[in-house]
Amino acid sequence: MLIVMKPQATEEDIRHVTAKIEAMGLRAHAIPGAQRTAIGITGNPGPLEPAEFETLPGVAEAIRVSKPYKLVSREVKKEDSVIAIGPAESGVKIGGRELAIIAGPCAVENREQLLAAAEAVKKAGARLLRGGAFKPRTSPYSFQGLGKEGLEILAEARRQFGLMIVTETVDPENCDLVEDYADVLQVGARNMQNFSLLKRVGRSKKPVLLKRGMSATLEEFLMAAEYVLAEGNYNLILCERGVRTFADHTRNTLDLSMIPAVKVLSHLPIIVDPSHGTGKRDKVIPLARAAIAAGADGLMVEVHSNPDQALSDGYQSLFPGQFQELMEQISAIGAVLARTVGTTPAMNVAGRRQ
Ligand code: PEP
Ligand code: MN
Repeated sequence: MLIVMKPQATEEDIRHVTAKIEAMGLRAHAIPGAQRTAIGITGNPGPLEPAEFETLPGVAEAIRVSKPYKLVSREVKKEDSVIAIGPAESGVKIGGRELAIIAGPCAVENREQLLAAAEAVKKAGARLLRGGAFKPRTSPYSFQGLGKEGLEILAEARRQFGLMIVTETVDPENCDLVEDYADVLQVGARNMQNFSLLKRVGRSKKPVLLKRGMSATLEEFLMAAEYVLAEGNYNLILCERGVRTFADHTRNTLDLSMIPAVKVLSHLPIIVDPSHGTGKRDKVIPLARAAIAAGADGLMVEVHSNPDQALSDGYQSLFPGQFQELMEQISAIGAVLARTVGTTPAMNVAGRRQ
């Protein structure tokens, strides 16, 4: 159920409604909007009676939410969510006018490699750096990541280049450590329905980047996000990264229709990962351009200075020069949609800097 407060409702009215919900053993989620505050209720095993709330001071109406997911839905919040990353002075936001570009290697391999990638992506205009310190690998014999040492290298890159760090947490135990270093906690495709991990990141103060499971439907994807919001963490970014199909010319089939589909049903931002979404370097730039044209709020792209030597996903990593080219192209596409790209000056459609 969603309790919509009147525009003139006072803080006291909101506290009163919240206290009533909590006294019923349920959870209240205050959702401030441009005009008025709404309060989502979760934890009720069956339907609630609207009249119980509509008689309280400051309440405009109580609405039953028809979708199985509640807090992520547009029924509960009409305005797009804009997620602030890092300290306020970083100015980095995901879901607003500026497209969020997260770039860097698949994994942190060593200090030189990560710092070289960080320098390159920063120079091209990215404001967020990716790199796994804990890698969920198909084979137990593949490189599993540097662990804590990798996180320390990421922290050094943040200090040197002022980039915000996006890195993966693979289980609830290692989340305590990853949380100390990351600006954004990534939950990977393989963990999209790891419910104990979703609940753990739901109790974190750090924003969460949730990647779509490799065979997840739209509803399953939004339900996974709901786990995080239901625990009280409303700072969640969705990421489309392709699904498994019969196609063998790509690693995954990137489902760009997910972008408009999510935008109808949810207020959460959605970005696209064309690297895992295609698995092949020559397909990354075209699909990244298409993702921005389709309305994505940003991209997550793998970049490596020496992809042939990469310990994971080298064949889908862009060379720094290609990433620079991509940034210029999406800057031009973004301009058509009134969106800007990181620190790269906007370009007009003809490719000239404005
Ligand atoms: C990644 O982004 O590092 C990754 C492992 O991707 P995915 O979870 O989408 O496979
Ligand atoms: Mn990868």
